[in-house]
Amino acid sequence: MSETKIYLSEKEIPTNWYNIMADMPNLPKPPLNPQTMQPAGPPDLTPIFPMDLIMQEVTQERWIVIPDEVRELYKLWRPAPLVRAYRLEKVLDTPAKIFYKYEGASPAGSHKLNTAIPQAYYNKQAGIKRLATETGAGQWGSALAMACKFFGLECIVYMVKISYQQKPYRRSLMQIFDAEVIASPSDRTNAGRQILAKSPDSLGSLGMAISEAVEDAAGREDTNYALGSVLNHVMLHQTIIGQEAKAQMEKADAYPDIVIGCCGGGSNFSGLGFPFVYDNLTKGKKVRLIAVEPEACPTLTRGAFAYDFGDVAGMTPLLSMYTLGTEFMPAGIHAGGLRYHGDSPLVSQLLHDGLIEAKAVNQIGIFESALTFARSEGIIPAPESAHAIKGTIDEALACKESGEAKTILFGLSGHGHFDMTAYENYLSGQIQDFSLPQEALDNALKSLPKV
Ligand SMILES: *Cc1c(COP(=O)(O)O)cnc(C)c1O
Repeated sequence: MSETKIYLSEKEIPTNWYNIMADMPNLPKPPLNPQTMQPAGPPDLTPIFPMDLIMQEVTQERWIVIPDEVRELYKLWRPAPLVRAYRLEKVLDTPAKIFYKYEGASPAGSHKLNTAIPQAYYNKQAGIKRLATETGAGQWGSALAMACKFFGLECIVYMVKISYQQKPYRRSLMQIFDAEVIASPSDRTNAGRQILAKSPDSLGSLGMAISEAVEDAAGREDTNYALGSVLNHVMLHQTIIGQEAKAQMEKADAYPDIVIGCCGGGSNFSGLGFPFVYDNLTKGKKVRLIAVEPEACPTLTRGAFAYDFGDVAGMTPLLSMYTLGTEFMPAGIHAGGLRYHGDSPLVSQLLHDGLIEAKAVNQIGIFESALTFARSEGIIPAPESAHAIKGTIDEALACKESGEAKTILFGLSGHGHFDMTAYENYLSGQIQDFSLPQEALDNALKSLPKV
């Protein structure tokens, strides 16, 4: 047997992020200004983003240098481990070789710190004093709170109300890093007040919390907005994951036939996958890339490929993406980080062009896979990450069926230590599957803006 954990040294942390826009056969259609419905240029974004991030949003330069200060902070936990899941292979009795890249080793517990740090850095450079954001499950809010603390920025987090109530420890984590955490919808913003006037008991959604955070940022000179997924610059920052994984696989004398990631807004999937899409597009490789999403929020597998807003109030630019419509209210599944109505325009375009695949899995299957993984590899995965595990187990069992010894690499985007309520519910038989009626989707898609 060869090594279980494949390490790189700090010196081997990549020096550049990989920008897939340099190599895609078709770029996504440009974002549209929500008022004029005309293509939105950099000036439309300056009220809420610093220019460096706006340029990363639009540039087609292939390699973007990672600033030294950012690389120094990455050293707190990077390079992240790549692990050969020998024990899982054995339990599944599969000829497949399974590797996973573990992002839960970051101090925030997920991959989100990979982009929180550069976002805080570029805002600090631009003289910004305060960042506003939203958080659903609390992973992104935790990562941004930490990054803001590292750079001496204030941080305000609009946290979806249901999570605010259900995940007090995530809230405390953000408060340890001095972030102000507000349950959304709140009375702090016009968007929040309007929602509360209509539905005083609203438990919130990511789309609502985004409206509040954007309004906060747009209304204050000293404040910008930060988004934890979906946008091109976020996908860019996450490519550190796949570049490291590639170097580690090389050390293990392996190369993946299949790369699998869970997909909410697309950032961990892109981060791991895009450096391999690069190999497919420029080096004649034929890696299969599979984005795995919940059946309860099936953006990529059942959504429309269309222009839509990123938020409920219609304040963000319209993005060209797979979407379920901003009115879509996903069931209260436990993978809170995968409950967004839209998806990354880059991931959406690649799927539309047949360069990646998508698949939806059900909640009970996800928890079964999570436990199989925990009991063999010892790590309790975030329920989001368990989607990638389910996708991997399905492929590994297909290998067993066919006798093919494929190499599978999946992204373990975070640990589940703050998700014990979800596991408790599963262990006591209280987790349900939601089959989403076509009618509910059709209704939600009626809210798509006419472009
Ligand atoms: C936020 C989150 C996700 C989903 O977001 P992506 O942008 O699709 O990666 C997945 N896993 C974990 C652990 C998360 O925190």
